[in-house]
Parts: sequence; structure tokens; C-alpha cells
Amino acid sequence: MTQTKTYALGAHLSCAKGFLHMGKEAKDAGMNTMQFFLRNPRGAAAKPLDEADVAALRAFLAENGFAPVVAHAPYTLNPCSPDERVRELAGEMLADDLRRMEHLPGNFYNFHPGSRLKQPLETAVEAIAELLNRLLTPEMQTTVLLETMAGKGSEVGRSFSELHAILDRVELQEKVGVCLDTCHVWDAGYDIASNLDGVLEEFDREIGLRKLYCIHLNDSLNPCGSHKDRHALLGKGEIGMEALCRVVTHPQLRHLPFELETPTDTDGHASEIQAILQRIG
Ligand code: FE
Ligand code: FE
Ligand code: ZN
Repeated sequence: MTQTKTYALGAHLSCAKGFLHMGKEAKDAGMNTMQFFLRNPRGAAAKPLDEADVAALRAFLAENGFAPVVAHAPYTLNPCSPDERVRELAGEMLADDLRRMEHLPGNFYNFHPGSRLKQPLETAVEAIAELLNRLLTPEMQTTVLLETMAGKGSEVGRSFSELHAILDRVELQEKVGVCLDTCHVWDAGYDIASNLDGVLEEFDREIGLRKLYCIHLNDSLNPCGSHKDRHALLGKGEIGMEALCRVVTHPQLRHLPFELETPTDTDGHASEIQAILQRIG
């Protein structure tokens, strides 16, 4: 498996059995990066952090040459809700997660910009940027990523220009970036199957490819532009294995960590990663 040294491939794993346990599970599955929640994804209060366990994971990742890993914010947060209490709760959880991430310095923290509901886009964009400006500090060692969204309902982040509008208002530029989800951008209408170069050119024009830090590698159950957000196993959806392999090997993307969020377990993710490496190796 020399290819895993060239590419950083991993998947979303559970830390329910502990952080070090999760790192070992990733390694055993042939991964050299991974993604995880720092708390119950439905947004319940998190247990106090087991600092010894996180320190052990940090050492394990370094010893095994892992690429940066990604913590994902709970799905239920809405940082741009019109309800001030909901926005405050989102801010508190993000702040708590970012404090936890300082025990794993040099990695990524990814979150969904949220749903604007009936507010104008501008109001939502302003709220998210304001939150980021409150949370980010020059000392922190985590890069916070906004995820590209499928545009389901009133999701913010359905286009590169919407993400740019948020990023543009952030003061500490070196602390923020973007995570591109292949299922989401496809569902949002970016045809990465037949026009990957064109999509990346647009990303570069609107946001700048230097702001792209991570890829969520998923196939999609639905056609391009469907705004659905239903992930499929790699090669079992509308994007297809060939196009997804072109994403992994693209000269402007191949250095990034790729995290699978396909509907299967760790054994399934291990086989999907092997299938990719066999095709591109
Ligand atoms: Fe996500
Ligand atoms: Fe994703
Ligand atoms: Zn999704």
C-alpha cells in the first residue's frame, strides 16, 4: 500500500470508543486521515474531554504519518438562524469544540454554514461571518472550514460565491478555508463529472484554490443540480467512479485529505479506499 503515502484517504469514523481507538481503527482500515464528531452529532452536551486519550491519538497520528484530520461540527447547529438563542447555542458549541481541537493542533474543523430560513442571504452571511470573527483567534492552531452545501431548502453555501461572501468578511484569513463535498457541489449544480476543470476554475475565481483544504469524497444518489444531498457509495451514484478518481488525482487536489462520508461502515470504507487505489495506483 505505497499509494496511501501519496494520497491522504480516510472516512468519517465514530469516536464513541475513544480517540486512540478510532485512530487505530482508521489505520487498520488502510486510512491515513479521518473525520469524526467531537460530540454527539445531534448536538447534545459533550462529555468532558479525556485529555490523555486525545494526547495518545495525537502521538499515534504523528507516529503513523497521518495527514491532517477533520473534526465535523454537529449537523443540528444553525449558526445563521433568525432565532438568537439558536445562534448563541451554535456559537457556544463551536467555541467548545474549537477549545477541544487545541489538543489536536494543526488539524481542521468543518461546519455547515446553516439555513437562513426566511431571512435575506445578506443577513445570514453577516451572522456567520460575525460568529467566525468572534471565535477565531490569532493563537489558535486549527483551521476552520466552511463546507460547500447542496442547496437543500434554504441552506447557505450552495454556491462558491455564497461561501466567498462569508470568507470575505472574516478578519483572520489564515484561520479559515473551505471543505468541498463532491456530492454537495454536484447536487448544487456543479458538473464535476464532465467539467471538473471548469468547476475548479470557478472555485479559483470565486474563492481561490489556496483556500481549499479538504475534500468530502461521496457519490450522489441524484442528478447534478437536484439540491437533494443524498450520499451514495463511490461508483454507485450519478457522479461515478471514474469522475471521483479524477477528483482524487487532479493535480490541484491530490495533496488534500479526502474523507469518505458514504453510507457504509468502516469495513465498507476500507474496500472503497482500496477500490480507488487500485484504479489510480
Ligand atoms: Fe458535512
Ligand atoms: Fe460532507
Ligand atoms: Zn451531505
